[in-house]
Amino acid sequence: MTAPLIELDHVDRFYGAGDTEVRALDGASLTIHSGEFVAIVGQSGSGKSTLMNIIGCLDRPTGGHYRVRGQDVADLDTNALAALRRETFGFIFQRYNLLANVSASENVELPAVYAGLSHEERREKASDLLSRLGLGDRTGNKPGQLSGGQQQRVAVARALVNDAEVILADEPTGALDSGSSEELLNLLEALHAEGRTIILITHDQKVAERAKRMIEIRDGQIVSDTGEDEARPEEAEGYRYSRKGPSPVGQVFEAVKMAFRSLRANLFRTALTLLGVVIGVSAVVAMLAIGQGSQQEVMARFESLGPNLLFVRPGAPGTRMRGDAIATLTLEDAEALGALDNILAAVPSRSTGATFRVGSKDYSSQVEGVSEDWPLAQNRGLKYGTFFTEDDMDRRIGVVVLGTTTAGNLFDDVEGAVGQYVFLGGAPFEVAGILEEKGATGWGQDQDDVALVPITTGMMRLFGQNYLSSITLAVDDTDRVAETEEAAKNLLLARHGTEDFQIRNTASFLESMQEAQNSFSILLGSVASISLLVGGIGVMNIMLVSVSERTREIGVRMATGARRSDIMTQFVVEALVVGGLGGIAGVLIGLGVCFILSESGMTVAVTALPAMLAFTSALATGLVFGLLPARKASRLDPVAALASE
Ligand code: ADP
Ligand code: MG
Repeated sequence: MTAPLIELDHVDRFYGAGDTEVRALDGASLTIHSGEFVAIVGQSGSGKSTLMNIIGCLDRPTGGHYRVRGQDVADLDTNALAALRRETFGFIFQRYNLLANVSASENVELPAVYAGLSHEERREKASDLLSRLGLGDRTGNKPGQLSGGQQQRVAVARALVNDAEVILADEPTGALDSGSSEELLNLLEALHAEGRTIILITHDQKVAERAKRMIEIRDGQIVSDTGEDEARPEEAEGYRYSRKGPSPVGQVFEAVKMAFRSLRANLFRTALTLLGVVIGVSAVVAMLAIGQGSQQEVMARFESLGPNLLFVRPGAPGTRMRGDAIATLTLEDAEALGALDNILAAVPSRSTGATFRVGSKDYSSQVEGVSEDWPLAQNRGLKYGTFFTEDDMDRRIGVVVLGTTTAGNLFDDVEGAVGQYVFLGGAPFEVAGILEEKGATGWGQDQDDVALVPITTGMMRLFGQNYLSSITLAVDDTDRVAETEEAAKNLLLARHGTEDFQIRNTASFLESMQEAQNSFSILLGSVASISLLVGGIGVMNIMLVSVSERTREIGVRMATGARRSDIMTQFVVEALVVGGLGGIAGVLIGLGVCFILSESGMTVAVTALPAMLAFTSALATGLVFGLLPARKASRLDPVAALASE
């Protein structure tokens, strides 16, 4: 003999304990065979819904045994219970319990999603069923656009989509007008005629009379039973359920689709949630590009200076006073340094602000006194004319070499400026040459806005000072820079008797640049992680809100066969979508900021790595902060979830 389809053996369902104990089901025994049409009647509070939740595997007995096709549900894990709900039972509720955000068709498809049917199969089944139930032209409507009777027919279609053997209807006519009630009961009769088992719960005697068998329940106990319907069709085969769920890929795809749907339903809230992540990511992208850009800029600047330069400044090491205010370095020092081994050139320098005048044009800028070795040390050639000579230095001749910016401000024809005179501090200086162009530095200093005069001439006519503000040493063999630096230091020590100067090399500049860069990166990293943390807390907050707002939806999904892992996946994917969208928006905004900055003349170096890193962290943020709410959602009790408002 095959086991009956449904068998309750002294089933108890108690809530609470002690004085507050409620015996919703109290030793109920009941057998229902495949193909029966049973009405369970009883007054409100008699335990009907509790019974149905137990039969539908949404809830478990606290005592006694419930067997489906001979299999005790107490021995099944949550996934197997989900599979039973998915494949054996189809629920129809008084309140329809349709998902409000999706179309009629998608509501019908829901159990098929969890059963792992392909998109096309689902579509087809759903539209067949809806057409059969007279809703063929309403497949695209959302529940809010349908009448109560139509919504309940959508719910019937949903109960049928996985070809459920048992239809469980809990007060299905409770919210319907008499016409719609009649239609629904006709529908249930037709389904029974097809061979399905129908369990109809109602408090209405008239409705119950449509069934072939009536069971009455009172205070959790079965008080009467009209007995088995002998005219029922053949018994179905034994217990079967498959653990087959949706394929992981399909599941994720569905979850992504649902995620977009629910995020779109709360567009403003989603945007606000994204803000933290967006700010974090765009800050990382933009700031790293700026940092990288300024580093490249500085590197380029030092590289153009060459690795072969040593800088001598007046003032003891550690002094922060402006070099040209300290009177310790002299032209003689520069000459002595120039005579050292391995030094190509020792270029003295001092500068001052001055007004340049040619005819009626005048222009204010800096004029720098240097020696004839300047082009060699700076590795910079002439565009027109020549540099001044040693002879010009010795004789303190009034000659000047101009950068193109300075020349352009004074002469209409830059090339023709060579040989002309410029008045500087009232004295005429003949233009000997024009320097080749070099453009602006990273911090916007125009390297073509220069005017160079022999330092000897400058000291006599312009500076009113015989001390130098710096000496630049060009080293021949760069392998011996350290040795040469030592020699220069010793020479100056010998000449001055005290260390009233500082010598630095490009390497030491680079080193301190690197240090500054590193602390900048650490700062950036902290800013980024703080904003991602804030963003993550936002994501978590919104996901928790979402879970409690959508508790009923979660209940519906569970009732239609979703496993805990399906619910978990859905909410994790939703959090990932939030993180991912925030990441993409952040990267785009960061790149936009970089674009604007580079348009405005700043050097920014956009590289793929920070963008990818920031995007990945945004995703990771979504994942980490989405896990807890997702877990919370997946642990919900289906019955409690369905009962929530
Ligand atoms: P019906 O569907 O017949 O109206 P229910 O099965 O919903 O009745 O409820 C049966 C009894 O169990 C009622 O007294 C109800 O108050 C109680 N009950 C139902 N659910 C809970 C619960 N989660 N906690 C405590 N009592 C409950
Ligand atoms: Mg009820």
